[in-house]
Parts: sequence; C-alpha cells; structure tokens
Amino acid sequence: MKIEKSKSLFSRAKNYIPGGVNSPVRAFKAVGGDPIFFKSAKGAHMMDEDGNSYIDMINSWGPMILGHANPLVEEAVIRAIQSSPSFGAPGEREVLIAELICQLVPSIERVRMVNSGTEATMSAIRVARGYTGKDKFIKFEGCYHGHGDSFLIAAGSGAMTMGTPDSPGVTAGTTKDTLLAPYNNLDAVREIVNNHKGEMAAIIIEPVAGNMGCVLPVAGFLEGLREICDQEGIVLIFDEVMTGFRLARGGAQERLGVIPDMTTLGKIIGGGLPVGAYGGKKEIMDFVSPQGPVYQAGTLSGNPVAMAAGYTMLRYLSDHQETYGKLESNTKRIVSGYRETLEVLGLNYTINQIGSMYSLFFTDQQVVDFETAKSCDTALFGSYFNKMLEQGIYLAPSQFETLFVSAVLSDDDIDQIIRANDESLKSLV
Ligand code: PLP
Repeated sequence: MKIEKSKSLFSRAKNYIPGGVNSPVRAFKAVGGDPIFFKSAKGAHMMDEDGNSYIDMINSWGPMILGHANPLVEEAVIRAIQSSPSFGAPGEREVLIAELICQLVPSIERVRMVNSGTEATMSAIRVARGYTGKDKFIKFEGCYHGHGDSFLIAAGSGAMTMGTPDSPGVTAGTTKDTLLAPYNNLDAVREIVNNHKGEMAAIIIEPVAGNMGCVLPVAGFLEGLREICDQEGIVLIFDEVMTGFRLARGGAQERLGVIPDMTTLGKIIGGGLPVGAYGGKKEIMDFVSPQGPVYQAGTLSGNPVAMAAGYTMLRYLSDHQETYGKLESNTKRIVSGYRETLEVLGLNYTINQIGSMYSLFFTDQQVVDFETAKSCDTALFGSYFNKMLEQGIYLAPSQFETLFVSAVLSDDDIDQIIRANDESLKSLV
C-alpha cells in the first residue's frame, strides 16, 4: 500500500502541529507507523491522499452513524451557511433541535447546546455542584468525559492510549474533589459515598463505556447507582456523548431502562459538526444562567450550521426507527464472523458488543473494567490493526476504543470486514 503523500503531509504537520495531529490518538502512536491523511469520504468508505480506499469502522469516533457525506445533512448545512454561519443571537433551528432532544431523551426536560462533549460534561458537573451546593463527584476508572481538568484522572480513550490517564498540568487542587471508583463495582461506590456523606454533588458515568474499549454495565449496576443517588440526593449524570442516539433514539438510558437526572450528549447530535449538549430535569437545569445563577456561555453555541446538521440527523433517526435494527444486524453479522474465526483458530479473545458498538480485546479475560481492559496485549493489537489497514479496513488506532458500525455498510462491506479479520488473525497466530 502506497502512502507517500500521507507520510509527506505528516512530516510537514509535525513542524507546526504538536505531534502532527489535532487529537492525540490520530497519530497512530499506539499501533506504529504513520497516520493516514484523508481527502474525502462517502457512505461507509474513506479515501486517503494517495488514492487508497478504506471501509471506515470509526466513523469520526461516532458521529457518522449514517455514513459520510449524507445528502440530507449536506443540503441542510449548505442552506444554513447561506443564511449565515452564525448570528450570535437566537434562531429557530436551536428551538427545533431542543424540542426534538427533549422529546426523545427520557431524562431531558431542558437542554443547553454547547460546542463539544468536553464542554457538555464540564458544564454538567458545574450545574450539579451549583444545584446541590456540594463539591465532590465520582468518576469511574477508564471512563473518558473529555479533557476538562477535573476528569483527567484514570481517564480512558486517548489519555489511556498515550499512557497519560493522569495528565501533567492538572493541579491537585482541581482533582481533589474527583473521587475514583472501579467500573461495575457498586460496593466501591457505596464505600466512597459513605466516607463522604453529605459532600457528594454527582456521579458521572458512561452508561456503556466506550473509552476503554466497549465495556457493558453488569446487571444491576446502573440500577444500583440510581438507588444510591436517590437515597443520598446525588445527581446521577449519564455521559451519553458516545451512546446518545447510537444505542437507541433515547440513548443507553432508553435501551437499558435506567433514567439519570442529567445527560450529556455530543457526536451524533452534531451530524459531523462540533456540537455538544447537556440537559436534564427542569428543576436542575433551571440553575443554568440566565434562568439561574450557574454561569455557562458560548460564542458559537447553537450556531445555525451545526444545529441544521444535528437536527437533520436526529430528525432522520427519529423518523426511521428501523435504522437501529439495521445497525444491530450489521454489527451482529460482523461479530459472529469474528467469533467463527476465533473458534477455528482456538483463540479465546473477548468480544464485547451492544447495538452498533463493539470491541475485540486481545485478552482471554472478560473485560468489565479498567483493570481487565489493561490485561490486553496491546502490541498484538498494533500488529492486527496494521494487517486490517493493509486490507482496507480502518479501525480505531488503539485497543482502548470501541468501533462504531454505520447504517450504510453493504453486505459486501461486511463480508470484506470479516474476511480481513480472518486473514489478519490467521497471520498473527
Ligand atoms: N464523553 C465521552 C463519553 C466521550 O466519548 C467523549 C469523546 O470521545 C467526550 C465526552 C468528549 O467529547 P469531545 O471530544 O467532543 O470533547
């Protein structure tokens, strides 16, 4: 595979951009080799600068659930740009998307649009603190809630991949109120809450974790968190930046039947443009400025272009419930193809899957938390990643990420993914 132009762009980029990329995992550090630079994408396929084509299994880390360059989204964006990219004042598109989000996400009665998932989680914690008058919150090891300072301890995603789950530059003062618990461990949560009676503002969690690879909550875990929060007056926040509108129209909360007090969203709700949102019960969201005293603002928040892209995407998903069946069946076909290969090769690697999210973990252990995720053979994953790439399958360049299946994969694409996985694993054992 020729990637001369990608190599040349990377070497130029490194002269001007830290590490040559604008988000760390993109640099392929965890898998070796140089990153691919992309020129265009359509549907399930991405084309690189050297003319190679790939089936995309990341989909821009989630947003492109309907594939790249969706014609409906494209048209809505062009129309919005023509009206003006930004008013810095209210517009109808903000009302439309807010109405739809409140209608579809069970926990959300009021919603505030922001520009990224990071902003959404930072703001949600601030509001939970303002509402409760308490400072401390629990975060789970291996969960990633964006790069806000108070979340960068035992963080998953790129922070975990880069070996910096605790980032320099984050002060001890900032993180003293962040309390860590292992994912799927209710006893640990109870102990922390008991040790900090009357001090807890929130518990924030990815209801299905996607940032240490795909890790599902065990039966009763989310229900247990709900119960603890109800008993202690703690705000339960589901970070559904990844799972929102992916696992169901109403996110993981709808699919798993546990309703938080607040929810953060991102990725899909921007239709590929930079958007985040946080929302929840009216009585909590009424604390947000200008209704209430908790300050949060944004120059480009709710801009017409991002709102148009997001609204068009959400409207489509809302009107085409069958998309979720298609996503699930695409993913189940891929995963069952993987399982057949693992069985033939006598490999015990773990596959976690729910809806259109899945991970193949290079470990024999069941992956249920940060510790078990860390048992993976990351060097072997790196070799596997490169074999898949050579066969035209673009995976997340880290073991500690989930893969996102899109609704536009064809039967041929799925066959190609299964065949490539088969060839790659065979060549490694
Ligand atoms: N929360 C979760 C669960 C995420 O997966 C991410 C990003 O991957 C974020 C928050 C941060 O979102 P953003 O990258 O848009 O700031």
